[in-house]
Amino acid sequence: MAIIVQKFGGTSVKSPENRRAALGHIAKAKNMGYDVVVVVSAMGRMGDPYATDTLIDLLKTEAGGEVSPKKKDLIMACGEIISTAVMASYIESQGFKTEAMTGFQAGILTTADFGNAEIIKVDPKPIKEKLREGNIVVVAGFQGQTEKGEITTLGRGGSDTSAAALGGYLEAELVEIYTDVPGIAVTDPRIVPEAPFISKISYDEVIAMADNGAKVIHPRAVKAAKKFNTPLKVKSTFEEDGGTIIGPAESDLTISGIPLQRNLVEAKFSRADKYNDKETEKLLKLSCDGSVYLDSAGASIVLIDSEQEKSAKILAEELKSNVEFYHDIAKVSVVYKSTVDSRMLNKEITELFLENNIPVVIHQSLNNCSKFIINDKDATKAVDIIFHRYF
Ligand code: ADP
Ligand code: MG
Repeated sequence: MAIIVQKFGGTSVKSPENRRAALGHIAKAKNMGYDVVVVVSAMGRMGDPYATDTLIDLLKTEAGGEVSPKKKDLIMACGEIISTAVMASYIESQGFKTEAMTGFQAGILTTADFGNAEIIKVDPKPIKEKLREGNIVVVAGFQGQTEKGEITTLGRGGSDTSAAALGGYLEAELVEIYTDVPGIAVTDPRIVPEAPFISKISYDEVIAMADNGAKVIHPRAVKAAKKFNTPLKVKSTFEEDGGTIIGPAESDLTISGIPLQRNLVEAKFSRADKYNDKETEKLLKLSCDGSVYLDSAGASIVLIDSEQEKSAKILAEELKSNVEFYHDIAKVSVVYKSTVDSRMLNKEITELFLENNIPVVIHQSLNNCSKFIINDKDATKAVDIIFHRYF
């Protein structure tokens, strides 16, 4: 029988009403004859009792600030396990046979990068066996285990990656990502409410959006789906139809995304000699957007989260570099079609920023995406003016 994987995010599993809406999609797929695998995130957001941030806070309070990454993963993984037990029990109460599994029981093997582990492979046998018995299988997202049996988590938004990887290894017909918006919009609808939703878009376009901060889907999820050539659909839990289908075909848009990343720190590494390939690799690993920017004076600029300042200082010592930090930084990017003249586009946007008194620290174009580093206070205005210039 064909398999479908359905992932439900934090808001979708947060309350009894929302779980009922989720069940509607699960029951529909099951009644259509699919074998259904449900992947769930932790319930709710910051402040909700079992949300990821609440669990981290609990640990931080006890640990007096510094928390070991391994123990942090242990407590974070609980959020999805609670959600799995709750969701599976609810689905069962509605007359379906279910099996509830942690990520480890579901055969998800990862690297030992606690807090940001990568999936190495998935053993499809445990889930397939439970599907064969007629169960709807509910799996805890965002988690896996190392070869040694240590519990890991996959980084913020990692449940999307759990779903895409399970879809790939189970040879699913479709992976559906259910969330609180009706698909992928050109830009975050919280910033530009009139931003249109896109019905069809390519893996590469969404990878560029997600790598540059569009948090609607985790970049590794899209990369996994591309590797297995599994179609992904992003849609709203609270609507029957609609949604964005992500596959090999490009969207019909010249500019398909304006992602924004906020609250960043600019780490400026400088030393007399250039960095060799191995050293650049280390700078790339530190960066939160997979880029190293060069400023006019030849310094290497890496964008990081504020929590990474300590790691940046350690790396600077290792590289015998000077490092300076600049706070309250944001980055707005423009994802464009391969046929677009990026030089023209950059010129237009630079002029637009100038007209609107938005200083640009630096900009760079890479892989059909132009990135502009600006001050965080200008972030939403920057998105808004770019959107209204092209739409
Ligand atoms: P979930 O908990 O379901 O994974 P997320 O909060 O991770 O939900 O992702 C959904 C949110 O992503 C939306 O509420 C929206 O504000 C945000 N978002 C950012 N960029 C986009 C975009 N281009 N299209 C749609 N939503 C976006
Ligand atoms: Mg998410």
